[in-house]
Amino acid sequence: MTLTSMRFAVAVAIAASAAFTTGAFAQSRPAIETTKVEGTDNVYVFRNQNHMAMFVVTPAGVIATDPVAYGKPQGGQQYLDEIRKVTSQPIKYVIYSHHHFDHIAGGKAFKDVGAKFVAHRRTTERLKAINDPNTVLPDESVSDRGRTIKLGGTTLELSYIGETHSDSMLIMRLPKEKIAFLVDWVSAGTFPGRGMTDSQPLKWIEGLKRLQKMDFDRFIPGHPGNGGRITGTKKDVEELVTLLEDASKTVQAEARGGKCWDPAEKELQFPKWTKMPGYENGRHLVVQRFCSLWGRGT
Ligand SMILES: [Zn+2]
Repeated sequence: MTLTSMRFAVAVAIAASAAFTTGAFAQSRPAIETTKVEGTDNVYVFRNQNHMAMFVVTPAGVIATDPVAYGKPQGGQQYLDEIRKVTSQPIKYVIYSHHHFDHIAGGKAFKDVGAKFVAHRRTTERLKAINDPNTVLPDESVSDRGRTIKLGGTTLELSYIGETHSDSMLIMRLPKEKIAFLVDWVSAGTFPGRGMTDSQPLKWIEGLKRLQKMDFDRFIPGHPGNGGRITGTKKDVEELVTLLEDASKTVQAEARGGKCWDPAEKELQFPKWTKMPGYENGRHLVVQRFCSLWGRGT
């Protein structure tokens, strides 16, 4: 394999491992990057390859989120090192967005400095059952009613909107900054992929419509968006609703014609979305999930 083809293969592998696929732009960027969110004093995005996490710095300590270190033994420490370049405040919290290890594995470095790990109750249930050696168990579980964290003048609301991309998803919203951190169930202009696997697509669409009514201007997704964007807007949420509804309707017709999973999974295209980053990797996964729904009732 030549170096160029190897780089390409690595970029494809990284893109294909994510819930939302984002294409080859990842090739030209550093593996690790920390960016302050424009227009804020204290909200940052930490990116490790194709995964992103939000952290918030306050005068009373740091609220971190997803360690994003699955398969990266140094990833948690590298995340902590990046925070240390910004502040020496203690890390008070690590909040998990949902239970998928590609987002939450690798938090040991944060546990070692005394951070409190917080997650939705279903995340805790699943982590206890599966007992992944690289994923720190939550210290506190949040009920479906949610929870508000206040630290050093910052308010972070954690809320649960039901089953979407997974059954354990917390919405993290900064009401003052009007910014939300939304992982895997919302994308900024990229086509869904493996994130379809354990989703409940109809409830997901309902959840997105309810999300539209929440008060925020921008969101940070769990994966970089179209062109490497680190934030999205409600326009992206609206586009995803349109996409999922279109895919659902298209596959429903195929399913009722007896085409699921084959030949639909091999052949069915979504003509409106072919130019969207991630389409080629994600198309069959979207067909597969909606085929399960409309072709098998599950
Ligand atoms: Zn996920």
